[in-house]
Amino acid sequence: MNDSRQMNIALITLDSLRYDSALEAKTPNLNAIFTSVGIENWVKVGSQGTHTLASHISMLHAGILPSWNTDDVPGPYNRKKENLFKAQLPWDRKTDATYPTPPASNIVIGFKELGYRTVGIGGVHWFDNRFVTSGFWEKNYFEEFHWEERFAEEEPDGLEYQIDLAQNLLKEEDDRPLFFFLNISSTHIPYRNGPRNIQGQAACLEYVDSHLPRLLSLLPNPCHVIIVSDHGDCMGEDGLWGHAVYHPKVMEVPMVSFILDSNHNELLEKLAKGQILNEKIHQVPKGKVTRELKRLWGKYGPDSWGGRFGEKKSHYTNTLDGSEDE
Ligand SMILES: [Zn+2]
Repeated sequence: MNDSRQMNIALITLDSLRYDSALEAKTPNLNAIFTSVGIENWVKVGSQGTHTLASHISMLHAGILPSWNTDDVPGPYNRKKENLFKAQLPWDRKTDATYPTPPASNIVIGFKELGYRTVGIGGVHWFDNRFVTSGFWEKNYFEEFHWEERFAEEEPDGLEYQIDLAQNLLKEEDDRPLFFFLNISSTHIPYRNGPRNIQGQAACLEYVDSHLPRLLSLLPNPCHVIIVSDHGDCMGEDGLWGHAVYHPKVMEVPMVSFILDSNHNELLEKLAKGQILNEKIHQVPKGKVTRELKRLWGKYGPDSWGGRFGEKKSHYTNTLDGSEDE
């Protein structure tokens, strides 16, 4: 098992999921998990791209996640306040990210250089590693990358096959902390062959919700989980359909960021068995949300890492001449 001082990271993208579809869906498992980690609901953020490639390149290459920078929005949903990841770039080498990575060709390689096991599982066809146009994730980003035809949006039950694979991959003994990426195609057109409207996409998220506890229970503890959509979909607004076009409904996406630790094991196990809980298992009483966030952050936040990621402001080398900066 992993050293508890090393934070595992899971970035899960719900492809094409609109913010309003996420609010429309009935997601008892997610609701129970949200309550247990002290968050109320999805946070609306702005995508960094109108389609899968642009948005994922932003996230996995530069570490720039969807964001909403108004003063009322806290980090990490607000990049002015907190960046979970940030690549060190020759023209902007400093990193004050929550999880700083050394200079590298992208943040996934940066995590590998920090000693992480980097595992990716693709969903939609932009992750099809049979072709050079979509196979670069395996070659240039992840040490282990997997894509199968049945993971893509044409297969209504693709998520279950992806979780089966994740189970096989993650049961292997490995002492390294984990950087895990999963793109879920279930929320992409054709919406598991359902209606092409908000209710149809919400039903897809309800399907994802029914399998999420099994997925989350596979992740090593503690784990910082980020669940975010890469972009939305138009559903006839202003005459537009789908994505890869600018529209507020394409740019507004749901995001949540939380830490799971061993306190949540019992909850996830019960949810994974299909028990929708009325009982309170590590659920945060109303009004004590902030304290729970502080508990998790105090236990697992940067101060607890004992310099594992180095001093924040000086954790980079000069990429031009190789000398230590500062
Ligand atoms: Zn997408």
